[in-house]
Amino acid sequence: MGEKDLIHLKQLLLKKRREIFDRLRGLESDWQALSERDIEREEEAQKMDLASLFDQLEELDRQELDDIELALTKIVNVTYGICEKCRKPVTLERLEVLPATRFCRKCAFKMEEKQKKPAILP
Ligand SMILES: [Zn+2]
Repeated sequence: MGEKDLIHLKQLLLKKRREIFDRLRGLESDWQALSERDIEREEEAQKMDLASLFDQLEELDRQELDDIELALTKIVNVTYGICEKCRKPVTLERLEVLPATRFCRKCAFKMEEKQKKPAILP
């Protein structure tokens, strides 16, 4: 991978990280606004749903943040863009779409097959 690509991907990662931070902050203030409101009895159930939705979103975002941090560390350690499973380079096309990915397309596909979830491509 060329230095230019690496710089570009690093910028993508930093941008993503900022977006997640902003989103998490937004969620927090939404949640606060909701909690501060007088809640009617019938809204109670709705509030519960929303709470679990926030939890799920936060969980996903925090996972992604972890992956981004890891990717940024890998850039420093010059191990970025290498699949953690088969140690082969991850294609640039894949990194463009998923800059924080830890696995090449093949390995990611295999793992997702095991989890019986729809595969995320590329
Ligand atoms: Zn692999």
